[in-house]
Amino acid sequence: MPEGSNPPAYSLRPMSAPGDASPWTLTTPVEELPGVTELRAAALRRMDIRCLAHVIAHLPSRHQLEEAESPIGDIRIGNLVTVRGEITDTRIVRTGRQRFEAALLDETGRIDLCWFNMTFLQERIHPGMRLRVQGKVNRRGPRIQIINPRWESIPEGSEGPAPRESRLRPIYPATEDMPSWAFERLIHSVIDRALPLIDDHLPDAFRRDRAMPSLAGAYRLMHEPTTQEDIADAKRRLVYDELLLFQLGVHMKRAYVRRSLHAPPLKWNEAIDAHIRARIPFTLTPGQEQVIRETSADLQQPSPANRLIQGDVGSGKTVVALYAMLMAAASRHQAALMAPTELLAEQHHESISHLLKGSSLLIALLTGSSTGIDRERILKGIASGDIDLVIGTHALLTESVSFQSLAVAIIDEQHRFGVHQRARLREKTADEHSIPHTLVMTATPIPRTLAMTIFGDLDVSTLRGLPPGRPPIATRIMPIERIDEVYAFVRTRLDRGEQAYIVAANIGEDEAPFLPPSAEQGTRDVQSLLNNLREGTLKGKRLEAIHGRLSRDARERVMQRFRAGTIDALVATTLIEVGVDVANATIIVIEGADRFGLAQLHQLRGRVGRGTRHSVCILISGNHAPTGSAARLEAIAATTDGFALAEKDLELRGPGDFIGARQAGAAPFQLAEFPKDMDLLLLARRDAEMWIASSPLLAAESERLIRSRLMKSHGESLGLVDVA
Ligand code: ADP
Ligand code: MG
Repeated sequence: MPEGSNPPAYSLRPMSAPGDASPWTLTTPVEELPGVTELRAAALRRMDIRCLAHVIAHLPSRHQLEEAESPIGDIRIGNLVTVRGEITDTRIVRTGRQRFEAALLDETGRIDLCWFNMTFLQERIHPGMRLRVQGKVNRRGPRIQIINPRWESIPEGSEGPAPRESRLRPIYPATEDMPSWAFERLIHSVIDRALPLIDDHLPDAFRRDRAMPSLAGAYRLMHEPTTQEDIADAKRRLVYDELLLFQLGVHMKRAYVRRSLHAPPLKWNEAIDAHIRARIPFTLTPGQEQVIRETSADLQQPSPANRLIQGDVGSGKTVVALYAMLMAAASRHQAALMAPTELLAEQHHESISHLLKGSSLLIALLTGSSTGIDRERILKGIASGDIDLVIGTHALLTESVSFQSLAVAIIDEQHRFGVHQRARLREKTADEHSIPHTLVMTATPIPRTLAMTIFGDLDVSTLRGLPPGRPPIATRIMPIERIDEVYAFVRTRLDRGEQAYIVAANIGEDEAPFLPPSAEQGTRDVQSLLNNLREGTLKGKRLEAIHGRLSRDARERVMQRFRAGTIDALVATTLIEVGVDVANATIIVIEGADRFGLAQLHQLRGRVGRGTRHSVCILISGNHAPTGSAARLEAIAATTDGFALAEKDLELRGPGDFIGARQAGAAPFQLAEFPKDMDLLLLARRDAEMWIASSPLLAAESERLIRSRLMKSHGESLGLVDVA
């Protein structure tokens, strides 16, 4: 049903009721509906409910089980009952336990109500009011009474017949001027005439195959359910509709991109493959082989690849990226790799340069720190095509960067970049109908199904398994009180020549756990922790700090020394979170672990366990742990499987948080909830794929309704206007 403010996209077939001169349509304004006063109409309009269709589409947020009511004269001592009547008398009794008492009367009898210690009720319950109360009945001398009953007042004018059977009462999102009961009444009074006006945008056979009610049927079940199953059936249909529309939009767009935009098809043959493999100093894991197969197949197509490569921390995504970049170079095109932080860009640049030592390829690093003639020279090389591979940060996105022939754009750690940035990198080529193949790599494994909703237009490759010979990482949770023991332990490991990361508690970061740490953040924490350790538990060890305030050169030097083993422990912010790769580092201590998200903890832990030695991750839990952190820490201690953790994270925090609250446009759904509705999402995706394959523009007459609904809800956000 219509969200937003346009009139609904249903057929406007009028229908007149017998004895009613003015026929209704779904666009009949609310003020013409029965019982809608000026006040109510205004209240409805403020909620963006302006016509009959909007009223029907106003769904209950929940249903409340309302017990059958009995006349007071019929009730039996000892039963739990619901009765309604008028308050005739109230008083406060101050002798003994303070209490508020009231008498409730209906045509058949009287019952006393008594609330202990709730004398303030005198302000709220007055003689003359009508109340519905519920509770257990007991005897009180000659009379009957309920002690501490649940109660609700029945507002004047809202009273319907007393239910003789228990029912599921819809509770609507409401305002003061338009309360839930008023919605209930309004909908009740229009639903019989409104539903026949609603045409279903799904063909009958199609929805029956999926055991779903018609659209009108779903609204009926939602507003007037008899059983919990009714509600579940209705939701299934409405959630499916929402997911199907989105998936149809995504697939429509994608079919359009395939038809109208091209990317340079890259050459691949055994000689090229052998040439590339000669650069990789180890045997690829089966997971890497698989993903390289999938991506190299994509890159050979003349239509732009758009693929998400998700692989757990340390699963070896970099060589997959390298393979794709070298395919571009083999076809005399350029490739770019964009990392979320300078540190990572530098590290990628270094390791790729190392692997390609002695080749004729020109490799450049472009970050915010590249300035002056250095920068000029790089920009020139990129524009002329002399530079084959560019590795950088979001500095690659600035306007002055223009490629001679960019064939492959790779974005590392997707969750730190928005969809828009992805789009901008794709615009970086001269030919407007040509865009690069795009590969997006994420080390935060996103549940596959969620990836489809957030990045609905991406194909997904999953890199399973880790390179061989990695012993598992042991994870321990320790209270802050035992911090000295922790560092004593760290000391023994450092004595053996191993290295450690120590992550400072980073207050203030929990608002944006997935955004790159700013230069300011955590600097002070890191410095003071460094000083404490130097003078205290780790005295005599070679400690250095690394944080965003350091210049690129200084950071580089520190990292270099850490890698070379001349620093024992690195005290850091979450700057080291992603990508940093030092095999001899076997211990990571995370102070203030409660403040980090699951994904982030998992990333941090992934800094160790990269060599063949047994690694340990110690999570320090403080006194002021935010709610839910215990569950997070236990989850992280229980498994090192990033995929399992991602599912857990989704469960604990919901998809909104999962990708960072600031990544707008990520949750286009109002009804669907994840992971609960994953099955429906899969169904919707499959259905949309098949539908668009046979009818890419939804242009048939029979598709008119679904098409107009699709354009209304996603036309703008998905840019479907170009398509149509
Ligand atoms: P991530 O997926 O986290 O980006 P990297 O690409 O940084 O992982 O790889 C992690 C480490 O594993 C690197 O040191 C890399 O050289 C090494 N590595 C990757 N693939 C293999 C492999 N097939 N065999 C052995 N080591 C590998
Ligand atoms: Mg990486």
